Amino acid sequence: MKTYLRILNFVKPYWKHLSISIVCTIMFAVFNGLSIYLTIPLLETLFQEGQTQSVQTKVQITQSPVANTTSVLPDWITKFGQNLSNSFNNFVLQGDKLDSLLRVCFLVVAAFLLKNIFGYLQAYFLSYVEEGSMKDLRNAAYKHLHQLPMSYFKQERVGNLISRITNDVNVVQSSISAGFLNLIREPLTIIVFIGIAVSISWKLTLLAFIVLPFSMLIIAGIGLKLRKHSTAIQAKMADITSILQETISGVKIVKAFGMEGYENNKFKRETYSYFRMMLRIVRIRNSSSPITEFLSVIVGAVIIYYGGVLVLQSHTLKAAEFMGFLLAIFQTMPPIKELSTVNNRIQESSAAGDRIFEILDTEPAIKDIDNAGELKTFTNALAFKHLSFHYDDSDDLILDDINFEVRKGEIVALVGPSGGGKSTLVDLIPRFYDPTGGQILVDGIDTKKVKVQDLRALMGIVTQETILFNESIKNNIAYGLDNYPVDKIIEAAKTANAHNFIMELPDGYETVIGERGLKISGGQRQRISIARAILKNPQLMIFDEATSALDNESELLVQEAIERMMINRTSIVIAHRLSTIRNATRIIVLDKGKIIQTGTHEELIRDENGLYNKFYEMQFRD
Ligand code: ADP
Repeated sequence: MKTYLRILNFVKPYWKHLSISIVCTIMFAVFNGLSIYLTIPLLETLFQEGQTQSVQTKVQITQSPVANTTSVLPDWITKFGQNLSNSFNNFVLQGDKLDSLLRVCFLVVAAFLLKNIFGYLQAYFLSYVEEGSMKDLRNAAYKHLHQLPMSYFKQERVGNLISRITNDVNVVQSSISAGFLNLIREPLTIIVFIGIAVSISWKLTLLAFIVLPFSMLIIAGIGLKLRKHSTAIQAKMADITSILQETISGVKIVKAFGMEGYENNKFKRETYSYFRMMLRIVRIRNSSSPITEFLSVIVGAVIIYYGGVLVLQSHTLKAAEFMGFLLAIFQTMPPIKELSTVNNRIQESSAAGDRIFEILDTEPAIKDIDNAGELKTFTNALAFKHLSFHYDDSDDLILDDINFEVRKGEIVALVGPSGGGKSTLVDLIPRFYDPTGGQILVDGIDTKKVKVQDLRALMGIVTQETILFNESIKNNIAYGLDNYPVDKIIEAAKTANAHNFIMELPDGYETVIGERGLKISGGQRQRISIARAILKNPQLMIFDEATSALDNESELLVQEAIERMMINRTSIVIAHRLSTIRNATRIIVLDKGKIIQTGTHEELIRDENGLYNKFYEMQFRD
């Protein structure tokens, strides 16, 4: 229930639409009741034999349906009901039979028309609330995702997260309509019809509702079971989405290793297990309405028999009233049946809601401290002091007592064997992770004490994977910079050696990256992302050189672009290119989380037994 209330919190901003919907619901229930209530005079008009034409007598004959409610309702209500019913009958039953019939028909049509208009409006406004609040829930979850640390995305499978924001939100959505449609409209309908039924015969009504507690118990039990299965089924859907996401993005590897059959089988296993789970849940979910319906039918039979006795034997009930009563009682059946599924749906959606709130409840590990300072410029040096780090999942130090400084204007190259900790080290600078020991200082200020946004604004980051978005080249280069002047974008592209090939594309800078058939090579992608970094014009450049081999011409163009990017900047580069290490002010050799050598290329190469020398021979020398 707590989860459900939390879901309802997202409905709050839509209280106006919700109120309109509720008003329409009330009107719907009233006209729905009226349309049934009208059948009593209709039946009387049609079937009453030997009726005189005088209104006066007719009113007496057409004994008001509320007349025998005195035993359960307060006096004033009874009187009010009687008056209402008398004037209603006066109006309907005056004149001759055909006249009354026409009037009743007209009223029936009007009542049905109004009922349906209000039903339509109610559904529309409710959908507005439902869709609107789910949009907000999705947005909130998405926004929160962006605040979560990198480590979160390493732990969670991407498909799982996608599934929560898509599939689980859909499941939650169904509970909102379940909540409002069923918790407001159905009870109202039930109240109206029970009101009518009671006004005709309270004894018969009481009899009809004796069975209710039994069905309620059964329903509650089913709801609990459903919640358990529902959690499992949503998790299964997340698994399926994960497999999809992983194999689609890794389609090249799947093909290269001929793993289509294997992946197909894996996928089939998951969908089959989803299918089984779904069937189980359908069995449970659908068992509640047949059970309640069967119970209702038993009651129905008893009522018909008892009511028949009242009509035929004791003559305390009129045939037309009994028909009206039966109609009213049968009208309460669908809403009761519907209500019996509300609990189920709320349980299912609470399970899905829990999975979404799990995202929302994950604390952003990296956030501004209170009174975080501003940091607008980088003037002096970036310093690493006794820095150590390990990932959450293990205590092994990935970085161990790292000490070095990068002064403004320097190019510092990180080299060393794979797994040495280079990427981890550069990830700590923009606070993708926080150090577990020691400090990183910008101009002497601990990076933990400044605004994360300010810190990141100082730096440009080019990663190995060149991430381009499904947008125009122009917008890809100006990512994060709205309405940037085109000439500046072109200038950046020229510096990055990207201008020429962009101009050869079908729409130049307006060419959309994700479009089918658009061929952009690895080297071209790299140059676009370099142009992106150049345009941001950061004071501090963090660069993870791509290891992928490029053809000679592309290599040359990329190299030139990198060199231009580093001019007049401070750079930290995970170096894979010979030219980069030759240009570096200082090279830091990192192995197993420790700095084992520092110096310029010339200095380091002289130490013949040093790791750098071996490494250089292996990696960089042709
Ligand atoms: P390099 O960039 O020098 O190749 P990395 O910084 O990528 O080295 O990796 C250093 C070590 O940290 C490796 O042993 C790697 O397995 C481990 N590592 C990297 N990322 C994570 C992570 N998200 N969780 C746990 N361990 C990690």
